[in-house]
Amino acid sequence: MDLSDIQKTAGLRTPIRNQLFIDGKFVDALSGETLATLNPHDNSVITHVAMAGKADIDLAVAAAQRAFPKWSRLPAAERGRLLLKLADLIEANAEELARLESLDTGHPLKDSRFLDVPRTAGCYRYFGGMADKFQGETIPVEAGFLNYTLREPVGVVGQVVPWNFPLMFTSWKMAPALAAGNCIVMKPAEITPLSSLKIAELMAEAGIPPGVVNLVPGLGSVAGQYIAEHPGIAKVAFTGSTATGKRIVQASAGNLKKVQLELGGKGPNIVFEDANLQAAINGSAWAIFHNQGQACIAGSRLVLHEKIADAFLDKFVPLAQSIRLGNPMDDATEMGPLTSLQHRDRVLSYVEVARQQGGEILTGGKAPGGALSGGCYVEPTIVRAKSFKDRVAQEEVFGPFVTVLTFKDDAEAMQIANGTDYGLGSGLWTSNVHRAHSFARDIYAGMVWINCYKRVNPGSPFGGVGQSGYGREMGFDAMREYTQVKSVWVNIDAQIPPHYKR
Ligand code: NAD
Repeated sequence: MDLSDIQKTAGLRTPIRNQLFIDGKFVDALSGETLATLNPHDNSVITHVAMAGKADIDLAVAAAQRAFPKWSRLPAAERGRLLLKLADLIEANAEELARLESLDTGHPLKDSRFLDVPRTAGCYRYFGGMADKFQGETIPVEAGFLNYTLREPVGVVGQVVPWNFPLMFTSWKMAPALAAGNCIVMKPAEITPLSSLKIAELMAEAGIPPGVVNLVPGLGSVAGQYIAEHPGIAKVAFTGSTATGKRIVQASAGNLKKVQLELGGKGPNIVFEDANLQAAINGSAWAIFHNQGQACIAGSRLVLHEKIADAFLDKFVPLAQSIRLGNPMDDATEMGPLTSLQHRDRVLSYVEVARQQGGEILTGGKAPGGALSGGCYVEPTIVRAKSFKDRVAQEEVFGPFVTVLTFKDDAEAMQIANGTDYGLGSGLWTSNVHRAHSFARDIYAGMVWINCYKRVNPGSPFGGVGQSGYGREMGFDAMREYTQVKSVWVNIDAQIPPHYKR
């Protein structure tokens, strides 16, 4: 099929963008190189996307540097107005964006329509509103002096995002950076660049000036690495694996970049004996199976009190088995394919890892056959592990794969919860208020959900501790991350300094 047929089949009205976006224009890579982006439903080629090399990134950085003085001095309310306009355009193009995201990533269309796209628009709208409300402080210092702080943009920021939520994650990074007055060189993941290129098109339509945002799809080891190293980039914000995060920290040392890292997780989702069981069952299925489990905050360790474990699993296993797998473009689909074949095989390799350590596969553990056998699908998989130290209870699988562990008392639940190197999302289900808040206090994590799981909102800080990274996206914290503080002293009484009096 050629590209226009693929567009028609996917129900897209407008052309799929497949070039770099530099200085307000869509351009080929200087090398002419491209990379195929595949449809994870059947591994067919959607299009070939220009692949940025170092020379393209140099051009993108130069464009961002040229745009910075004007953009950063634009009245904050004007930057906000442009972001609000972008949010409106995203809503006006909601169906187009949802279809493109589902085609490229495998997200069920239902999720792209009701989660990814509205959350993306909501994020630009939130930070559009924030632009002229984020301010410095006046500090009560000694008499005769005024001291105030300015919150200044960092400069040109490099942003590198993964493939699991491309549309949403680009908004989490770009919206606060732009609201604060920074210019951007962003690299989407090599396998899912399409929705962010569409956003670049909408940014131009909204009136965001050329050079303010530049998109450079390309390989992580080349384009991503060069963004982390580039002396013209003042900050790098990264979402992805812990291993890559560490490489970015090393690469950024040359010019002492500000670094922000959102890395992996192994979220504990604890169900106590006093929980509302039905709510916990449904919430735990959402925690792990939404987006095929490809979420850093997935509740991938299901930690059950031993008294309720059997009753819980008696309902949870059939619920997992009933999830409708299928083509993401079908309205009825509840779970689509994983985003690449390579990743599907990695997820499936953990079934053998579980077995080798005595784990019991309660359901799933394989790719479905029939019509879905040509795609990147994995059946919802539930594994009961022997110990919280087993590999399937420690390592991030990043698929529809949940590891069940049991505990006998609160102390053991906490030991399991805090028993990994990660500290990102966590959840607990209980009707005991005291227990809920003491766990929230003691758990080593950036986010805690009580009687719910995986809630996010542009106003609520998002990020981790330990091997899950540092820095926060969303809310006022994100604005702090994308600004630096300048302290200004004024001698308001025009005093002559008392030193060295002669
Ligand atoms: P990844 O680290 O392989 O890739 C992420 C991005 O980094 C991609 O754009 C990739 O091209 C780029 N990259 C790869 N090597 C690079 C290098 N040397 N220098 C610079 N950039 C490089 O991760 P992935 O497999 O694409 O994504 C899955 C991971 O992301 C999981 O570990 C998941 O937990 C994590 N994640 C974290 C969060 C969070 O907010 N904490 C959110 C989503 C995903």
